[in-house]
Parts: sequence; structure tokens; C-alpha cells
Amino acid sequence: MSQRIKDFILDILFPAFCLGCGLEGTYLCDDCKAILEISEHQYCLCEKSALRIPLSEKKGKCQRCQNKKLSGIFFALSYKEKHLTRKLIHFFKYGPYYLKDLAKSLSLLIIDHISLLGKNQKALFENSILIPVPMEKKKLKKRGYNQSKELAKELAKKIEVPLVLNNLIKIKITLSQMELPEKKRKENLKDAFSCQNPEQIKNKKIFLIDDVYTTGSTMEECSKILRHAGAKEVWGIVVARD
Ligand SMILES: [Zn+2]
Ligand SMILES: [Zn+2]
Repeated sequence: MSQRIKDFILDILFPAFCLGCGLEGTYLCDDCKAILEISEHQYCLCEKSALRIPLSEKKGKCQRCQNKKLSGIFFALSYKEKHLTRKLIHFFKYGPYYLKDLAKSLSLLIIDHISLLGKNQKALFENSILIPVPMEKKKLKKRGYNQSKELAKELAKKIEVPLVLNNLIKIKITLSQMELPEKKRKENLKDAFSCQNPEQIKNKKIFLIDDVYTTGSTMEECSKILRHAGAKEVWGIVVARD
């Protein structure tokens, strides 16, 4: 069965409903979206940025984080702030297959965030490509979809930036980073990712797409691989930050 027919049948069987108020027709209605506090500032990658010091123009990170491979992070929402944010992310991450469509609403939150920052979208995404944080095959098969890939697909369509799939891949099954102590996190991610085609990313500005940013170690590890393969810069884009 083709993907389009599959999606069409799912739409009939499971019509979309707002996760905030239950309104039919969308996973996030305008009224509920208005309650969410989309960030107007950019913050550093580090935990210290929980202090909520907005970064000055152009800089993606604070002085302490200069040697990190990731250049900076864009996140639309704070994970802990609103019940609805947690619900949206939870359903997107763990919900049934048809909820992959949530990517449409969530990508709009990211676009709103970028325009609230006052950044010139064209300049920001010049010479860039989008790459989703990959999922290993076994997990993907069990899960049905990779939420990061769905989000990246929607974003690529809306901001008209090329999407590169199957270049950065995950080759090792890892444990959830959140369940591990700091020391074990690095070890867990060691040799977990691989870049298949360095030519495709050489000298490009890369935007890594994921649903949430928690410890940051996954994105940092992906950045390391991509920078090693020749990427000019690697930035992260997520819906929410823990
Ligand atoms: Zn609603
Ligand atoms: Zn920092």
C-alpha cells in the first residue's frame, strides 16, 4: 500500500483533534497555540543558560561553550513550562503512528520562534541543509516513524531548505541518555553515528533537527561527526528544551 493511501485511511480512521482542547481538525488549534509561550530569545547550549540570559546578536553560545562542536541551538518552547508542551512532545515521541502528523503544527512553532528572533530567514539558511537526528533501524521498525525526520521534512518544505536523509545514520543501539549519569553518556554515544557521504555536507551550514534538547550530548556527538566530515557549522533546531 502506498504511503499516501495509508495516510488517507489513517485520516479517516483517526481524525485529528487538538491536544489542548479536543477541537477536531487539527492537533493544535489556534487558541491553544496562543497559550504557548514561544521564545523570543536565543540561549546558550549549556545548562547555565537555564539562568535565562539571552545571547547577543550573532553569537550562538556563551564563552564557556566555545569549544563545543555545536554552534548553537534554536528552541521554540521550554519543556517544563506548560502542560500542553509536554503533552505535544510526549504524543509526538511515543504516540501512535498517525500522530506523526503533529510535525505540521510543531514545525510552525519553530518558524514562529525564528521570526520572533528577528532573524532574516534567507540569510540564516543560506548554503545550508537540514539533517534529522537519526534513529537506529530496529527502533524505527518498532516505532513506525522517526519524529525528528517528520519534523525535518515539514521544516524543509516550509522554509525551502534542502533536506538530506540517510547520510548521517545511527549504527549502534544506545540507552536513553536521560537515564544515564553524566560519565556514562559519552560512552553510550561513542561510535553511535556515522556519516555516509561527506561530499554532500562539505562546507555546508547544517541544521540538525530533533524534537527535544535535554542533555545536549546527542547533538554534540552528531556535530562532531558532521564537522569531522567537513561541515562548516552545525546548529541545532528543536521544538522544546528541557
Ligand atoms: Zn485547542
Ligand atoms: Zn554556554
